[in-house]
Amino acid sequence: MSGRGKEQWKTATKLVRGGTMRSQFGEVSEAIFLNSGYAYDSAEQAAARMSGDEEGYVYSRYGNPTNQMLAERLMLLEGAETCRVTASGMGAISSAMIAPCSAGDRVVAASALFGSCRHICSTILPRYGVETEFVNGADLEAWEQALSKPTRLVLIESPSNPLLDAVDIAAVADLAHKAGALLVVDNVFASPVLQKPLEFGADIVVYSATKHMDGHGRVLAGAILGSSEFIEEHIDPWLRHTGPSCSPFNAWTVLKGLDTLDLRVRQASANAATLADQIATHPNVAAVRYPGREDHPHHKVHAEQMTLGGTLIALSVKGGRPEAFKVLNALQLVDICNNLGDTKSLACHPASTTHRALSEEEQAEMGLDESWLRLSVGLEDVEDLGADLMQALSAI
Ligand SMILES: *Cc1c(COP(=O)(O)O)cnc(C)c1O
Repeated sequence: MSGRGKEQWKTATKLVRGGTMRSQFGEVSEAIFLNSGYAYDSAEQAAARMSGDEEGYVYSRYGNPTNQMLAERLMLLEGAETCRVTASGMGAISSAMIAPCSAGDRVVAASALFGSCRHICSTILPRYGVETEFVNGADLEAWEQALSKPTRLVLIESPSNPLLDAVDIAAVADLAHKAGALLVVDNVFASPVLQKPLEFGADIVVYSATKHMDGHGRVLAGAILGSSEFIEEHIDPWLRHTGPSCSPFNAWTVLKGLDTLDLRVRQASANAATLADQIATHPNVAAVRYPGREDHPHHKVHAEQMTLGGTLIALSVKGGRPEAFKVLNALQLVDICNNLGDTKSLACHPASTTHRALSEEEQAEMGLDESWLRLSVGLEDVEDLGADLMQALSAI
């Protein structure tokens, strides 16, 4: 009986084994190749490598073995043809959004996006002559209208930051393709363990590997996944000549994080599901938004796209900013921090931190107001987390 090919491996196996390349020393754990340049055997070889006639590394801005191991592992995991890793999530997303566009092109994006993704669409792209339009991600009629004109790229996030809205990836992919556009999905909140956008028709998936993939709050990194044609035509020249390359040390740290990604995301999601139900019973809570709860307005779409409810919860505290701040300040175990996807549980007030650059109207457009907190659930014991959150909510 022949063994399974690596493409047929299950997720947990891909996460531990995918992409590993051993040097002549046979090290078991992936090596860090912390080098910028590569020595050639001859001047002829240098010329052949630089011209592309001979395969091989030439400079770590172009490629590096540790970065390549991370890219291969992510590619297998996502089921993508090609992957490139970058210095941060924004390095990946800005490259994916800017590199394929020219003046006169059109981009349509969901209005509920990570703050910096929204800035790229609202401010940076228009300065270079790219028209951008925002639509309510859950409104398919709005998508249909916005995509009735030829469009280059569509950007969505599902679940979105911070209120965990769902976008119907398959439906938007269809409309995007009819408009001649490629669909880019920022899949940070779900992680590749819980949601695989390419299976629903997305063309490009982007990640901040800083979040669940590293998962221990250590390094910044990002990734772009898609077809070889797209990556080679648009992303490679952009990355080579603008330079948002991933540090091999950071790529190695993320590789080590991936070993346990499946276990961590499943356990944190189980903790989050328990906590969301517990928090919802507190009298000082006006609303809880958790993709795994049936009272989430987009529960049905989430349930079709994600295998679990995920590691993030949004909760609206009765009152406004003073009450929300009181709850944060009363937390004893959970840290106040705008990062997410960490082993440590973290909470923040999006309106004054991650989304503070948006105007009040823009915040209102995505349903955000001063009463909301975002909780990233980690791996502490769920009883300890529950006790901390309930006492903090009672501090109002
Ligand atoms: C954090 C985050 C980013 C940006 O990633 P960095 O690694 O911080 O640059 C983009 N999108 C989402 C949804 C994020 O949570």
